[in-house]
Amino acid sequence: MKVVFSPDHARHHPKTYFKSGTFHEPQEVPGRADALLSGIEAAGHEVIQSMDFGPKPRGAVHNPGYLYFLETISERWKAAGMENEEVLPNIHPGRRMNSMPEGIVGEVGYYTTDMSAPIGEGTWEAAVASSNVALTATELVLDQLPEAGSAYALCRPPGHHAFQDMCGGFCFLNNVAIAAQYALSEVNRVAILDVDVHHGNGTQGIFYNRSDVLTISLHCDPTDFYPFFSGYAHERGEGDGEGYNLNIPIPPQTGDADYMPYLEQAKQALRSYAPDVLFVALGLDAFEGDPLIGLSITTGGFGQIGAAISELDMPTVLVQEGGYNRDFLGANISSFLKGFEG
Ligand code: ZN
Repeated sequence: MKVVFSPDHARHHPKTYFKSGTFHEPQEVPGRADALLSGIEAAGHEVIQSMDFGPKPRGAVHNPGYLYFLETISERWKAAGMENEEVLPNIHPGRRMNSMPEGIVGEVGYYTTDMSAPIGEGTWEAAVASSNVALTATELVLDQLPEAGSAYALCRPPGHHAFQDMCGGFCFLNNVAIAAQYALSEVNRVAILDVDVHHGNGTQGIFYNRSDVLTISLHCDPTDFYPFFSGYAHERGEGDGEGYNLNIPIPPQTGDADYMPYLEQAKQALRSYAPDVLFVALGLDAFEGDPLIGLSITTGGFGQIGAAISELDMPTVLVQEGGYNRDFLGANISSFLKGFEG
């Protein structure tokens, strides 16, 4: 498997993680990418450095005000004399509160969905590098068309919780959405299969009105699980996109054997849609030992999931999303890729 990587991920090193009403050690840290990379190298995969695709691909997905915010807020926050070195919101526009304020506190709240995406000095550079990793992997797969090639993008920070104009859930730029949109300059329709334990809410939001991107997310039932407000089966898309969003919520603690029929449901939808390129938003946080505790997939189970996805025999770009047990990330990605490569 060709693996794309950028060391610039390390420029984003959050100091805080807010959960259960208090601050904790962050989960989404540079050590995650190091763990994934060691697993990849031990398994003998070829590692390629990412290329720079410039501002255009991210501008095709995210809005200009949001991109300006991400790029400049760390500096403006410091200049405004804020107490914490990282940018964090303390208010969000609730229902029936939608005006865009001019002050910096309101601006931060406006462009964020929660308190788990702190923005530090190098966050923008790392997020841009992560999207370039996904774009480089996409280019490798597009180059092989019409053959069903594949590549793995070792993205960090992850992206699937980032909306067109909001960051949250450890995500800033939606890597898989940027890559999928980019592919549409060469092909007619693409699909995104999100197997992260959390609903791909940002990705769903970005493509909700469109039929040229089928979005499917398998995730732990959000009834009492992040992102809480979306990920339900009744969310099917709107307008032109009606019928092109499929959510498959799965009961908490579901293990390997019981997971596979849900994946089969997603595969049936993918077969009938027949995308020119398949993108997999590849979270490894459905792992039984993940600190975010959702599903109970084993290391071997990731191999079975990889094998089941590769049976579709589609050109496939694998884009790393979550996965927070650093002791097992290397083994879990190796198991997935081994299964995928058969
Ligand atoms: Zn996740």
